[in-house]
Amino acid sequence: MQTTTQIRKTFLDFFKREGHEHVASSPLVPLNDPTLMFTNAGMVQFKNVFTGNEQRPYKRAVTSQKCVRAGGKHNDLDNVGHTARHHTFFEMLGNFSFGDYFKAEAIDMAWRLVTKDYGLPADRLLVTVHSSDEDAAGLWKKIAGLPDEKILRIPTSDNFWSMGETGPCGPCSEIFYDHGEHIPGGPPGSPDEDGDRFIEIWNLVFMQFEQITKDERVDLPHPSIDTGMGLERIAAVLQGKHDNYDIDLMRTLIEAIAAAGGTDPDGPHQVSHRVIADHIRSCGFLIADGVLPSNEGRGYVLRRIMRRAMRHAHMMGVRDPIMHRLVPTLVHEMGQTFPELERAQALMTETLKLEEGRFRQMLDRGLRLLADETAGLAEGGTLPGEVAFKLYDTYGFPLDLTQDALRGQGMTVDTAGFNAAMERQRAEARKAWAGSGDAATEKVWFELQDRLGGTDFLGYATESAEGQI
Ligand code: ATP
Ligand code: MG
Ligand code: MG
Ligand code: MG
Repeated sequence: MQTTTQIRKTFLDFFKREGHEHVASSPLVPLNDPTLMFTNAGMVQFKNVFTGNEQRPYKRAVTSQKCVRAGGKHNDLDNVGHTARHHTFFEMLGNFSFGDYFKAEAIDMAWRLVTKDYGLPADRLLVTVHSSDEDAAGLWKKIAGLPDEKILRIPTSDNFWSMGETGPCGPCSEIFYDHGEHIPGGPPGSPDEDGDRFIEIWNLVFMQFEQITKDERVDLPHPSIDTGMGLERIAAVLQGKHDNYDIDLMRTLIEAIAAAGGTDPDGPHQVSHRVIADHIRSCGFLIADGVLPSNEGRGYVLRRIMRRAMRHAHMMGVRDPIMHRLVPTLVHEMGQTFPELERAQALMTETLKLEEGRFRQMLDRGLRLLADETAGLAEGGTLPGEVAFKLYDTYGFPLDLTQDALRGQGMTVDTAGFNAAMERQRAEARKAWAGSGDAATEKVWFELQDRLGGTDFLGYATESAEGQI
């Protein structure tokens, strides 16, 4: 069996042979880009190279980029645990051309890597192109010899990639792997495309434009290439698994959770094991890149992810903090590829331990309140926004944690009511805030950081007292 490490190496080696510079992953907190919460794709570190605002000594690059999709335009937080293919943290393998090669070469290299070096059978593969892109459709036919029915023309934004509201963008062409008839789901573009039978493994973006504002789009100085292949997704295919959570790396994490919690990874709490395995990666990597839990911005997203994992540990019946005990496995599995994990091991451990310790006390009480409040609700019922807000305000339950807890019972939250309650509280807090708020909680984090030493980039910190828990 090819390990995830070998699969990453095959990708990097292939493109190095094709004249690409191997560039290291950039941090999860994008440098010089306030428009983006976290690095969500390989192209992020090259954004200014595509637009011509920055020059590099190479025209071709290859990377394995750390990505987090848990906020902003690409947000997969709610998918984790419920699909076979989504993580909040994942690695995106990518090759890039900055005004060098374009569509034909990109398609040719992708097809050779997938069918020769990775050895996937061509009859399991199909591709999509944007419906306006006859050029790409013709190239797939010519280069890969794919029949028409395996080249699907998609008119929607699914085949027009953009990083966020602004930034480089262009039509794209995606390679899908058919995991087989026994798995529910339809081909891309069909009504049940969200199933997991046809899984998108690689997106080739033909970078041609820059979105300047919502209404203004200009041509890039040179047509360029940006591609992204999910390492965990290709690993699943190559390891003969349907599900990302069954690959070597994820399985090791899942088993570490089971060992730490005394739980059965394949029993009734399978989803919770997956959620925790996913979230320990995003939490660990975010902390290593300088994000610390707080009540605003990036720190708040981290806190939400942590708390979601902690709720799932609680659901499995684990009563002692568990997250920090997974750090050694994470570092052992990924520290060689990402040495920042080794450097931040003590900080990750302490941060997770402290956060989980604090949250545990409230979790029990909050979940009891939630159970009381939902006892009178029918399946498909709606929890009043006020209650969700109380859970947030008093027990530190982020809204998505409450939603996640209710999802299993087919219930939802009145989010408009939640927002209204939040707005009211904000207005009151602003009135009351005269520079003497309780910044004690935040202080703990700064002290911790000082004591243990920060990482290269200390990231985002906040002293806001709003929504203090
Ligand atoms: P999907 O449609 O499956 O959500 P996407 O179209 O949002 O994927 P892209 O933005 O095209 O994904 O990202 C490029 C590649 O990164 C995808 O083809 C996939 O292999 C991988 N990828 C994207 N999102 C995730 C995720 N949340 N977890 C794991 N891999 C991902
Ligand atoms: Mg997606
Ligand atoms: Mg997609
Ligand atoms: Mg895609």
